[in-house]
Amino acid sequence: MTSFLKRIVFSGITSLDTQWLKKRSCIEVISPFHHLVSDEPVPWIDKLYGYKNSRQFEADLDWLLRNFRPLSLEQVAEQVQRGQPFPEKGFLICFDDGLRQVYETAAPILLRKGVPAAFFLNPQFVDNQSIFHNFKKGLLLDRFDRMSITPGILAAAGKILGIQLTGPDQLRKNIAGINYLNKQLFDGLAPIFDLDFDRFRQEQKPFMDQAQIRQLIGQGFSVGAHSMDHPLYSLVPLKEQLRQTRESVTWVHERFKPRYRTFAFPHVDTGVSKTFFDELAGPDAPELDLILGNTTAMLEQNPRVVHRFIGENPDIPIDRMVKTVLSYNIARKAINRQYIRRN
Ligand SMILES: [Zn+2]
Repeated sequence: MTSFLKRIVFSGITSLDTQWLKKRSCIEVISPFHHLVSDEPVPWIDKLYGYKNSRQFEADLDWLLRNFRPLSLEQVAEQVQRGQPFPEKGFLICFDDGLRQVYETAAPILLRKGVPAAFFLNPQFVDNQSIFHNFKKGLLLDRFDRMSITPGILAAAGKILGIQLTGPDQLRKNIAGINYLNKQLFDGLAPIFDLDFDRFRQEQKPFMDQAQIRQLIGQGFSVGAHSMDHPLYSLVPLKEQLRQTRESVTWVHERFKPRYRTFAFPHVDTGVSKTFFDELAGPDAPELDLILGNTTAMLEQNPRVVHRFIGENPDIPIDRMVKTVLSYNIARKAINRQYIRRN
């Protein structure tokens, strides 16, 4: 979130009238995205980001239902294809990464409330074939924070990282700084922290399997693609961005036969070029029906792109978040800067 957004999120924004903001903003789909809802600690995620418990999530849905109509992924894709404004502003709930807590905790609440939702999947994680590199980071940081870091650990970790470590803080910073491009370092560090990622994967099963996903689809939920193994797109070349996108969309389409070909960016869409959007969702015979971005409160020139915002911060109730998104959008619109510029 930009510092401007942060500033308004903690200001007196909740006193603003939702209907007033709704009328003035040009955002037609209010789309909070989440990863999970959980009433239990999740050690592989707790060091990475916060999330809501079932009571908070339910309160969010109640507020959204009072102020907007719920939309399914298909309704959003259909409207976008028609190329016309939405008849009424609505909200679309998204969950990324295909985590098992979606099946266990979020979906039953959504069903009870009659709220549709879209789940964006990474083929390499479905069925727990492999685990997201960020969860390895989460597990290492969790272990790190509960261990006393001896000189022996520092020396062994330094060898893996290829640096001379001077203290625990430096090691923690280095673990936190590992990304998609050097993610193999996580596997090298695991034994030093007494972690076995394969055992973790088999025991914890952090992701949904295909049977669970099929059950959710049978209950009326929608699925889309989220890249093969979740790279930050700005770290990989265009060719790889396109491959990750196409292969994951095809995989989801072949397995689950959704009505529309949809894709949600892993991490963020920052730095993704105009060519990417033109190639996959240009005006002539687009390969994708709908792309979900993550650039909060902004619009895309390409009409097939809808931007979402993080809805799962447990410190920010949804009314404050939505009002912030709408206010920010109105402010950008006032200076004619509501569209993202792509090179
Ligand atoms: Zn994701």
